[in-house]
Amino acid sequence: MTTPIPEPTVALVTGASRGIGRAIARALAATGAPVAITYREQAEMALEAVREIEGAGGRAAAYQLDVRDGARVKEVVEEVGTHFGPIAMLVNNAGLVRDNYLRFMAMEEWSDVLETHLNGAFLCAKAVLAGMQRLRWGRIINISSDAAFVGDVRRANYSAAKAGLLGFTRALAREVAPQGITVNAICPGMIATEMTAEMEETRRQGLLRGIPAGRFGAPDDVAALAAFLASPAAAYITGQAISVDGGLHMG
Ligand code: NAP
Repeated sequence: MTTPIPEPTVALVTGASRGIGRAIARALAATGAPVAITYREQAEMALEAVREIEGAGGRAAAYQLDVRDGARVKEVVEEVGTHFGPIAMLVNNAGLVRDNYLRFMAMEEWSDVLETHLNGAFLCAKAVLAGMQRLRWGRIINISSDAAFVGDVRRANYSAAKAGLLGFTRALAREVAPQGITVNAICPGMIATEMTAEMEETRRQGLLRGIPAGRFGAPDDVAALAAFLASPAAAYITGQAISVDGGLHMG
């Protein structure tokens, strides 16, 4: 028996003020879902993202949230619930890099990355789960990275966090599958956002040579998969890690 799809299917996308998160928020809003956009510092960008969605006829609202702050995560989930209804889709996208060779990596650089990607996903998933279990329908999408498979130089912190997210995805997928909730990970390759904009030109050219598709991806390339995984059509896909990388990692 299939569980009826909740109306409306409210989405929460963390770190959606810009980049991949913003494209995902746009794509989910285009399916008719009211979308809660969270940002850490860039309030104006988040409001711009809200206006963009509203301009296209969708519904959205912005919330300040540092995903490392468990009390604030709970508060935001409650505020979204009051404003739009219970969250049926969660995209754990918020992320940052703190690059350094391991030998020189400060504890703070290590823990900042782990706490944002991994603790953040844990806190957000934990906060929305009871609501999804009541709905007996839910979608959790964790934005991991190809770095989880291949590792990135100067990014032991990031690669470890993204690999950790894959284990988290699979374990949680097993736990909640009987309740109509799917949990999947998307592993983007090189996507053109602020996160990749600061790269040296020689490194950029070197990376480009390794991408069979011959280009960096666009945030919309990732958003298209997120929208599919969030849709009713993806009900039987869970515990997966799917790359969106132009063929960079074929594993
Ligand atoms: P981005 O353009 O740098 O945007 C990062 C977003 O995360 C921003 O909205 C930022 O908020 C938010 N954020 C950062 N730290 C946060 C925290 N502690 N709490 C809450 N929000 C926080 O990054 P992006 O390239 O779109 O990356 C999005 C996700 O995709 C990340 O998880 C990243 O690791 C992953 N990814 C990216 C690539 C790539 O090539 N770009 C590849 C693989 C995976 P503010 O704007 O307020 O600072």
